[in-house]
Amino acid sequence: MIASTQAQALFPVPSQARLSVDAETTIPTRHGTFRFIVFRYGERSTKEHVALVAGSVQAEGALVRVHSECMTSEVFGSLKCDCAEQLDRALRTMGEGGHGVLLYLRQEGRGIGLANKIRAYALQAAGADTVDANRALDLPDDARRYDAAAAMLAHLGIQSVRLMTNNPAKVEGLRALGVDVRERIPHVVPSHPLSHAYLAAKRARMHHILPLERQTVRRS
Ligand SMILES: [Zn+2]
Repeated sequence: MIASTQAQALFPVPSQARLSVDAETTIPTRHGTFRFIVFRYGERSTKEHVALVAGSVQAEGALVRVHSECMTSEVFGSLKCDCAEQLDRALRTMGEGGHGVLLYLRQEGRGIGLANKIRAYALQAAGADTVDANRALDLPDDARRYDAAAAMLAHLGIQSVRLMTNNPAKVEGLRALGVDVRERIPHVVPSHPLSHAYLAAKRARMHHILPLERQTVRRS
């Protein structure tokens, strides 16, 4: 009994209590049809997180992408990062494979918010890399949190995941919240020349696991 209580304390049962499902439907996308579930995490939060679910949820070894929003690339086609390609690749993989769960977390700019992200971009235009720009603004390198994601996974009945990511900190962050990450699946997408410097900084300074040379793609 004690072991079971401790296990429950490790898994985010308390945080799951802060999670609510606000709305749900299915949406046809160019990658297939997904269940689209809107969550709210925390009583005072105005953030609406989303789970997109392809097929039936696999409790063990579920294919999962935990993706943080990036308005600049995903909405406006910014070439400064590869978030839009990563989102597309994940949904395409899940749509074609017929299963998978994408959690879309509302934490723009690695969690610092849109205005700070744009301030950091202005410093990057003057020569700073992504890490130094954040530090010059007295902001963390990465302010993202994954407690909402852990609670969403628990809500969906997912016991263990195969996580699509290049970011070891994300794996560790989720594991620290009790998520059983069985496997890390590399999530490398073709990059654009304008994002090379950003990705090089992520590799060198944030320990992302990325190949040195990547196929480039032109986005029009
Ligand atoms: Zn981005």
